[in-house]
Amino acid sequence: MDKKCGNLVISLDFELFWGVFDVVTLDSFKRDMDGAREGIPKLLELFEKYGIHATWGAVGFLFAEDEDKLKGYIPEVLPKYKVKKSHYDYIESGSITDENSIYHFAPDLIEKILETPNQELASHTFSHYHGNDEGRCGESFEADIVAAKRIAKDKFGIVPHSLIFPRNQYDETSVRILKEQGFIAYRGRPESSAYNGRALVRRMLRLIDTYIPVCGKKYYDRSGCLRDGIADIKASIFLRKYSRRLRLLEPLKMKSIKSQMKKAARKGKIFHIWWHPHNMGGNLTMFLRQTEEILMYYKELHEKYGFESRSMGELAKEIMEENA
Ligand SMILES: [Zn+2]
Repeated sequence: MDKKCGNLVISLDFELFWGVFDVVTLDSFKRDMDGAREGIPKLLELFEKYGIHATWGAVGFLFAEDEDKLKGYIPEVLPKYKVKKSHYDYIESGSITDENSIYHFAPDLIEKILETPNQELASHTFSHYHGNDEGRCGESFEADIVAAKRIAKDKFGIVPHSLIFPRNQYDETSVRILKEQGFIAYRGRPESSAYNGRALVRRMLRLIDTYIPVCGKKYYDRSGCLRDGIADIKASIFLRKYSRRLRLLEPLKMKSIKSQMKKAARKGKIFHIWWHPHNMGGNLTMFLRQTEEILMYYKELHEKYGFESRSMGELAKEIMEENA
């Protein structure tokens, strides 16, 4: 078998307020969401300029134009969370108004994603399903996924094939349900145990790992991706926003990313970067500048080593064909 070229995968968790409604107030998060709204079209321009095939995992609620339209898609079986607040209780609380509608719905941005060549519109579940809550269950997760597919098909004629689990929380049952629902790829957690869980020590390790690689290599081989007919396109790194406070460490962050990308390109491995569009809020200019630096380096590796940008879905298809 000839040597495979390496792949850069970029995925985005697009959620606006649905990803954080249970942990922050809307007012305190507006700046971040404005950053997402302003940044997405600029990011799409960069992706087109550098030939990036990105995967956009969008929360299904965002596909609706307004609360009334959304209500037509709410599944019959709803999750009964024990710890977390439910997205459906939030809707019922009457918190959505005409003024804050742009932080809950975004068909305009989804349209822009679809207008840009080589972008994959994937799912981030319908409601931003809380996969670790004690009250989660297979039945309500399945109903959520069916609703996500339904709204994507109705509004944009798209059937999503890849999924990004909210907060990277999932178990074997949710992966099995995805496969049954026709999905071919999901984004699994990075291999290092530091990336599994929210304990303080693990979060600290992850922060340090951004600047000084302490959690080992981040790239991986495609041979281990396929599991029971669905591909786990694992995350390599979360792209942290530019930090003014830690600005002296910023060059280390970029150096670490590039070094991993180069190794992946030379060895024919996969390197997968992810972030949320709202991470661009606060300092959009610096975020876009660092993103472009990464994409320029990708171009260099593409020319030198044949490093190729692939969406999660494209990569999953290739891997399945190789294993057929
Ligand atoms: Zn999310």
